[in-house]
Amino acid sequence: MSTDSGPNAGDEEEAQADLCDLCGTLVLDGTQWNALVRDSSAIHAIDPKYDGKRLVVSCSREHLAAVVEQYERRPFLYAELWAGKITRVLRQHPNGISPEDLARETGLNSDEIKHALTWRNIEVQRWQQQRGQYWTGEPKGGQ
Ligand SMILES: [Zn+2]
Repeated sequence: MSTDSGPNAGDEEEAQADLCDLCGTLVLDGTQWNALVRDSSAIHAIDPKYDGKRLVVSCSREHLAAVVEQYERRPFLYAELWAGKITRVLRQHPNGISPEDLARETGLNSDEIKHALTWRNIEVQRWQQQRGQYWTGEPKGGQ
């Protein structure tokens, strides 16, 4: 599964087998159960229209219900969604981008961008702390 998939995401998605999001069983096109769930970590490769939505696939009605339930329990974080949008735009501009262009291309205002970047810094710290590493970047702020 890639995070790039979305509803009608690409032509090559159409006739392709997929894996059940719960058990990993290969499900052939036509036999799969699909649902669209809200997921703030789902960022479409190019089309912002599909951001925050994930097309889940499963092998049976029961597994689909279980997968949907997992996503329903996961909090939908706008900061995470915004951070994903920023990452996508930055990836398209490897040489850098002005704050104005970043705001225009992400469709976010400066407060949203600031909020998303703060959230991402906190996530990076948490990720490093979980692995027993020290954050060597800027000191933790915003407390
Ligand atoms: Zn399954």
